[in-house]
Parts: sequence; C-alpha cells; structure tokens
Amino acid sequence: MALFTKRRAGAVASIAAAAALALTACGGGSDSSSGSDKFEVAKDVSISGSPTFDKMKSAGKIIIGVKEDQPGLGYLDAATGERSGFDIQIAQWMAASLGFGSDKIEYKAVDSAAREQAIANGDVNMYVGTYSITDKRKEQVGFVGPYFVTGQGLLVAKDNTTINSEKDLDGKTVCSATGSTPLQNIQQNFPKVKVTSFDKYSQCVEALKNGQVDAVTTDQAILIGYASQDPDKLKVVGEPFTTEKYGIGIPKGDTALCEALTTTLKDGNATWTKIYDDTLGKSGTKVEQPTPDACS
Ligand code: GLU
Repeated sequence: MALFTKRRAGAVASIAAAAALALTACGGGSDSSSGSDKFEVAKDVSISGSPTFDKMKSAGKIIIGVKEDQPGLGYLDAATGERSGFDIQIAQWMAASLGFGSDKIEYKAVDSAAREQAIANGDVNMYVGTYSITDKRKEQVGFVGPYFVTGQGLLVAKDNTTINSEKDLDGKTVCSATGSTPLQNIQQNFPKVKVTSFDKYSQCVEALKNGQVDAVTTDQAILIGYASQDPDKLKVVGEPFTTEKYGIGIPKGDTALCEALTTTLKDGNATWTKIYDDTLGKSGTKVEQPTPDACS
C-alpha cells in the first residue's frame, strides 16, 4: 500500500488506522455493539468524589456522546441499528469499567462543534468520538487520554490529479466540520484556501462527490473510512500533516473520574490491543497504545 511511509509516530498510527478502515468499513459488523457484553462489566464500583459517576449511578445508565457517520471509528448502521468502530469499543470498555454493560449505555450523536457544550451541560456523561485533546478545549472540558494518535489528511475525488498533498491547496475549496481542529488549521495556516464547513464530515463527503468542493480535510483515519466506502470515487492523498491525540471528553474538574478511566487505560493494554486488532488494526499493521497523560 502506497501509504505506508513512516515519517513520524502520528503518521504511522494514522496510516495503520487508515488501512484498517478499508477492511472494517465493509467488513460486516464483527465489531458491532449490540448483543452480549464484549468487556467484563465491573461490579460494585465506587468512585468517591466524582459528581459524574454519582449522576450515572443514580440514573442507572451512562450517556455517551459519539459520532455515527464515521465508518471504522464511530458508525451507526441505520439498517441494523448496530454501532461499530474503534471509538465505540473504547466507549463500551470505559462504560464496563464503571459497571455499565451494553444495555446500560445510551448513545447520543454529538457533532464536532457541539461537544464542549454537551459535556459542560451534562447532556452526556462522557464523549468518545475522534475528539482531539487541545488546550483550548481544556478550558471547558476534561480529557482522559490520549488513547489514539492520528493526523490531518486529505480526501479528494478519485480522478483528481492536481491535489496530491496539503501543498496543492491554494485556490482550492476545502470542506471540514464546524468546530474541528482541521478546519481551524486550514483557516489559520492556509490563507489562500477557500473553506466550506458543515456540521458533519459526511456532508462534506457528499459535497465532494457532487463536485461542490475540491477536497475534504480531517483526521486521516476518518477519511480512509469514507474512501473505503466509495473506492471508485474517492481517494486519500498525501501524508498526515498534524498530530491529533484523541481523548475521552469528561466534565471539567472531575479528577476522580479522570483518574479511574486513566487507570483503566493504563492497566488495559491487552484490552486496548484487542480493540485495535478488532477494528483499525485489521490491516495487520501494529501500533502501540499511547501512554495516557496524568490527570490534572
Ligand atoms: N480530531 C479532530 C477534532 O477533534 C477532527 C475530528 C472531529 O472533528 O471529530 O476536531
């Protein structure tokens, strides 16, 4: 596969994700979320000093914000009602570690621009959906992680010969999701690029297919999921040109919850690897679980 150029760790992780998505996106649901629990559900969990955990406990369920239009990461099959992908399994693993099995998870689709508010308002108890850890977002929410590292990439029409990397974007129209780090990067650092934005990446992909935009930009792992759904029309070009570290969004200041989930991530390398192998790692490319940051 032409994409296997090792430039830096972020790029390698992203490429692995990308290649795997080609498999998971059309694989037929081996990582679906329905049915019996994939992860051992912890019993008698108590986390003292966590308002978020207390809220979940009294509600008897956990509300998790996700994406549902990102094949291989966070995807809802409208026909079967099954959710699949790396993020979905990470969410299920975290929920199980807190004592909530699959039947006690309520998923809420939350777009990129709405994540901070959804977490801060308490509409979701946590968020798992290609959510990059940034200092700006940390002003409003807490993060557990990173649990995955990828980088910004480009998706173009299969027959496009003019855009081969981010260096070819001047004068072109590029689409990304409102409130996302890739959109911000283009707006700040690529002044000659025309920008279109939608709430969802799937809307950008539609615009690309209709010829309304020249490229879609976001994390390469996400883009390869779209390319693999429509390989006759779409392709990913270039190498990742940023580093995006995915975190689990939680309410700001809930250090006790952060500590508990960070411990789960740290002690769960075997589980992480299993999730990776079952989703993004289906390409056969190995990446290491990133070391989660300490909670502050
Ligand atoms: N990881 C980037 C972000 O958090 C892009 C993907 C997304 O919008 O979910 O903004």
